[in-house]
This record gives sequence, structure tokens and C-alpha cells, in this order.
Amino acid sequence: MDAHDDVIMDGEDHRMTDGPLASNGFRDATTGESSLETTNVQSTAGTSKGEEEEEEEGGSSSQLVYPEHFRRRGLLPTGCCYDDRMKLHANADFGPNPHHPEDPSRIEHIMQTFKKAGLVFTGSDAELARIIKTEPTKYMWRIPARPATKEEICMVHHPRHYLWVEELSRKSTQELRHLSAIMDQGRDSLYVGSMTYEASLISAGGAIETCKSVVTGVVKNAFAIIRPPGHHAEYDQPMGFCLFNNVPIAAKICQADYPDLCRKILILDWDVHHGNGIQNLFYDDPNILYISLHVYRNGEFYPGKPDNPMTPDGGIEHCGAGPGLGKNVNIGWHDQGMGDGEYMAAFQKIVMPIAHEFNPDLVIISAGFDAAAGDELGACFVTPACYAHMTHMLMSLAGGKVAVCLEGGYDLEAISKSALAVAQTLMGEPPPKMEIPKISREAAKVLAKVQAYHAPYWECMRPGVVDVQELQLQDSSRLHDVVRRAQRQVLSEKHGMLPLYIQRDVLYKSFENQVLVTRGISEARRLLVIVHDPWVHLGDGL
Ligand SMILES: [Zn+2]
Repeated sequence: MDAHDDVIMDGEDHRMTDGPLASNGFRDATTGESSLETTNVQSTAGTSKGEEEEEEEGGSSSQLVYPEHFRRRGLLPTGCCYDDRMKLHANADFGPNPHHPEDPSRIEHIMQTFKKAGLVFTGSDAELARIIKTEPTKYMWRIPARPATKEEICMVHHPRHYLWVEELSRKSTQELRHLSAIMDQGRDSLYVGSMTYEASLISAGGAIETCKSVVTGVVKNAFAIIRPPGHHAEYDQPMGFCLFNNVPIAAKICQADYPDLCRKILILDWDVHHGNGIQNLFYDDPNILYISLHVYRNGEFYPGKPDNPMTPDGGIEHCGAGPGLGKNVNIGWHDQGMGDGEYMAAFQKIVMPIAHEFNPDLVIISAGFDAAAGDELGACFVTPACYAHMTHMLMSLAGGKVAVCLEGGYDLEAISKSALAVAQTLMGEPPPKMEIPKISREAAKVLAKVQAYHAPYWECMRPGVVDVQELQLQDSSRLHDVVRRAQRQVLSEKHGMLPLYIQRDVLYKSFENQVLVTRGISEARRLLVIVHDPWVHLGDGL
């Protein structure tokens, strides 16, 4: 590795001091400062005409300033967030089997793969100056990570949870080992170390800076190579290798800091596990659409059933609540073994239609690569080409504002190849030509069910053109109302049954006159109650 390797991005670059490069946003990550507000990159991404003319004059070549004439969004660079300090979160268990699938080398391996593929600049300063001037999109631009603040973390987590993670840094190795031994089992599935707190803060801070850079147009889109992952972390507890829930934290901050630019956010989670934490944090939020593709296997696949039976799991019937109804889409596969055919079909039939109807201002991909071919834990077969196509489809949303944040994925080769395909697509490489395999019959049924569950909330999930509101205005009847009326008529003619008044302030029209009784009920000594179409059956029939 030569001395200039660290100029744009490198595994060991977090000690880089502010030099002339600071004007390009390549700032010392250890300062903890966000460079977004002050860099010339941002100002050049603006639209002032005066600035453009100044640049036409030739601009100063000694300053590494993003050229004005490259400020069309498509000509902005792709960002990449990486920081070696995230490798410090490691298993405190130094026993004979210390290995854990969520290993520090995951992020390094991805970074090295990006470098080998030429996505990351590794030349000299002089060459860098020329490239920034003439071909700024040739390489990914570094987005510095920084530790997230307590206030930022607590936008989605309980302060008690923050303190619990913070306290890890004060525990002895013995205590940490003991804690890991207890928590590494069952649903908790977590290990902790003395640097877990620091690494978790940087992981969350990396997600924040990555999403902010995309929203504000510092970069066209971006990839955050971060760990520990986040999507299992709940409001008040860590879970499943996750400490802080990086993506929701970043989403909330973008909404708060840029309310005009970033009101509605799509979080697309293609990790093979259900992102229970993200779902639960936004379950009733109308402005966050959470779509997860995961193996559900009747609730048996990790994270499985929550301890509290009232908490929704990754089942497809859980569509959100209150104002957030319809804004939670669980594409929960019946089993492992899914591949390109299933994922492409899910995207073409469910994800993209709903996403377009939602019309987000920002897309964040919770990008676990454990559904990738080669990952033993996930045992699915999604190829890098399929990841490229899924990314490409998502880039058609939100004016191309796509931020990719790493979640799970444990086979180093599989995650690196998949991440590379995603990054190349973000940079503008067309996705490779791909033969789409046939979707399995069972998976097709899953998609049909998801469609049915979401038909009440999304126009695109209904067959044909059905304007429900217009139909209701026309005073037309729904088919099951007609059937019920006929049943009532038969019961009254054949058995002389009468409707019983239902004592409710508000009653849905369909249930009017639907409780029928035989004459003389007030004197009857025994009552036989027959319920037609109980709700559980109606639910199944959807
Ligand atoms: Zn996972």
C-alpha cells in the first residue's frame, strides 16, 4: 500500500488531519465534526448562477473544489462511509471459540473489495486534484463517520437503553464475558466488548452522515459500510447483534433537520431477517414506509415471536396501525431457499408499485446481505446481479436519493460481492443482464397474500381500476352486503326471524340488521347463538 492510499478512503484513514482536502469533505473523522455544513461540495451543489460563472472563469486548481458544472444530480459522486473504529466492537470472549458471525472483518472485507474493484481512489494528491476537477464521479467520495450524540440516539431509543450501552465501556473484561455468555443465547443474541459503545456510536453517526449527505445533495447517493448493525434493536433493548438502530435514527434526524426536503422516507429492508426494531419504532408512523423482505417460516425464523404477544412480528398480516396503517409491508417468505426469481417478483409486484404510490423523498436501504448466495445463516440464493437490479429499481424513486446502510450478512465473500454490485449500480453502472428464474409456487402465494392484505391501503394492490371512494359515493353495494341481505330475507321468511337493535354509538353499515332473533326471545329459557363468518375466517379468506 503506498503512502497516498489514504487520500480518499482507506481502512486506516480516520486519523487523517484537516489538510487542503478538508474542502472536499474529507475531514478528520476523529474531530467528530460534520463537514457537510461547511464544505465547498455543498455550496457547489447549490444552484446559484453567480457561482457557476465564477467557476467558468477557471476556478482555482490548487483548491480541491467540486466543479460547478458537475452539479447536475446525476453527475454528483456516490458517497461512501467507512471508519476503522467500527472494528473495535469485538467479542470479549477470548476462549477457544471466540468467533462470532458478526465479525469486525466484515466491513474491512467490503472496503477492500471496493478498493480492488477501483471504486475507491488510491493514487496521489496531484492526481486527486485532477480527478476532482475532471471526473468527480469516477470514485466514491468519502463521507466521514462520527460518533452519534446521546440526543440523536434518544430520538428513537429510551435514555435507559443508551445508558446501558454506555455503561459497557466501564465494565471489566470478566463482566463483559459474563454478559456476553448470557446474552448470546436465544432471542437476545448479542455479544458485547469494551469498545462496543464507541463502535455503536460511530455506526449510528455514520448512518446519520450518510443519509444527510444524500438528502442535502452533497452526494448523489451513498453506501455506509457500518457495524454493529441496527435493525433488530428495539426502543429499549439491544437484540440480534444490534445495539442502536442506525437507520431509524438517521431517518428521524433527516426528517427533523430537513422537513421540507425529507418528509416521507421509504426504508427497504432486504436483510434475510425481519427488522423487528424498525417495524416497531415506526408501526403507526404514516411518513415512514417500512418494507421488509425476510424469511418468516411461520414465525419460527429469527427474530421469531416477540416475548409480548401483543407486539407484532414479521407476519404479512401486520400492516401498521392507526395513521400508519398500510405503511408496514412484511414480505415474509414461507421458508429459506429463496432466490432471484422470488426477490425480483417481490420487487416488481409489491415493492415498486407501493413505493411509487407512496412517493418518498428519501430511500434508505437496510442492506443486510445474508439472503445472498453463499450465506449459510440465511440459506437463500440472491445473486449480486439481483442486488444490482433491486438497487437500480429503488434509484428510480425519490429523485435518486438512495442511502444504503449495511445490516447483517456473514459470509465475507458473499457480502463483499453483493455490496460491490450495489455500489457499482449506485455509481451509475447499468445492472448486468440477468435471466430471472421462475418464482416458486409457494412464494407466489405469499406475494398474493401480501397483495390482498394491502389492497385496502394501496390503489396499486387492487386488481384492475377500483376507485373505492367513488364506488361508495355512487351508493353501490358491496357484494357481501348483498349476500347478507339475501340471507336475512331467507331467515325472516322461513323462520320469522327479526333484526335485533344493536346498541352501539357507531355502527358500520354492513352490520346493520345483521343480528337476527326468533320471535319470543324475551321468554326463551335457552339461547342458541350461531355466528356466521367470524372475523378469523374473514381474515384467512383475504
Ligand atoms: Zn440478518
